[in-house]
Amino acid sequence: MTKTWQDSLKTALKGNNQNAMRAHADFSPQAGQLFAPVVTSSVNKQINWLDDQDPLLLQFLPHVDELTEAADFHSDPVGDHLSTVVPGLIHKYHGRVLLIASGSCAVNCRYCFRRHFPYGQSYAPRNHWQAAIEYIKQHQEIHEVILSGGDPLTLSDKTLKSLTDQLLTIQQVKTLRIHSRIPTVLPTRIGNSFAIWSESFGLNKVMVLHVNHSNELSNDAIKAIQKLKSLGFTLLNQSVLLKNVNDSAAVLIELSHHLFKHGVLPYYLHLFDKVQNASHFDLPESHAIEIYQQMKKHLPGYLLPRLVREEAGEPSKSLINIK
Ligand SMILES: *Cc1c(COP(=O)(O)O)cnc(C)c1O
Ligand code: SF4
Repeated sequence: MTKTWQDSLKTALKGNNQNAMRAHADFSPQAGQLFAPVVTSSVNKQINWLDDQDPLLLQFLPHVDELTEAADFHSDPVGDHLSTVVPGLIHKYHGRVLLIASGSCAVNCRYCFRRHFPYGQSYAPRNHWQAAIEYIKQHQEIHEVILSGGDPLTLSDKTLKSLTDQLLTIQQVKTLRIHSRIPTVLPTRIGNSFAIWSESFGLNKVMVLHVNHSNELSNDAIKAIQKLKSLGFTLLNQSVLLKNVNDSAAVLIELSHHLFKHGVLPYYLHLFDKVQNASHFDLPESHAIEIYQQMKKHLPGYLLPRLVREEAGEPSKSLINIK
């Protein structure tokens, strides 16, 4: 029997890939209780277990430093609840709405704000999309619907189809954008049924991937990216600047080139949101700016991601000003 992506996801959630993690010197079972360790077998294969500082391992390892509670770090650093217009729908930026289509992910990234709402985060359950659809219908200026989460690709293609069927009834919506880590952490998800779904509607299609380090671009991930490209997706990437993972201009410059080679443009480089229990990923803003200045010197403009910070109540993402 061939394994489906759903099987792989179930295996990940059962935590069958974590034995090697437990052997790591900084592994903390208590940290694992604060936020369950979850990786897929594809991620597992990309980790170099002989390297204590492996950039993938550090993104997923329940680390002893998570037990440190730091001042100025919060469980909801972005404050999105303020802009929630109906359950699961965030209308904060002009012309675009963000639909929290799923509360689940294929992996648990240790630095994510979701660590504080793994189950309880308000999202739009399938049977409650009606309210979101009605809201969009009534707002003529909304031309783009962004599916986010969690990870929207944890939903089945059938569920996605029922959502796009409803979006297609709204004249002014032209673009569907998906923010997902799944093409690179669970590449088998981008299979035939996904292809059939994504070819079934005429909206502009944008996929914003989430890759922090070139080591995440496995051969299977690259195949998934090529498939998305052939299906007509515009491919962008967002990264988070993380201490000990990618806090180096050389690593990020190489990532930009590597993404471009496979048809993906760097879009955002996020300054780390001050998420409680993840302060060991934070680096001083002055250091972040130094890294970015190096990147700016070495990269053509189209391969330089925008350095941004999410700020509660702002009408767009805040670009960090760099000379
Ligand atoms: C990032 C984000 C968007 C999309 O912003 P773009 O500038 O179009 O990338 C929309 N809504 C929310 C709440 C966001 O955080
Ligand atoms: S995939 Fe994205 S939303 Fe999910 S845990 Fe990782 S960073 Fe958070």
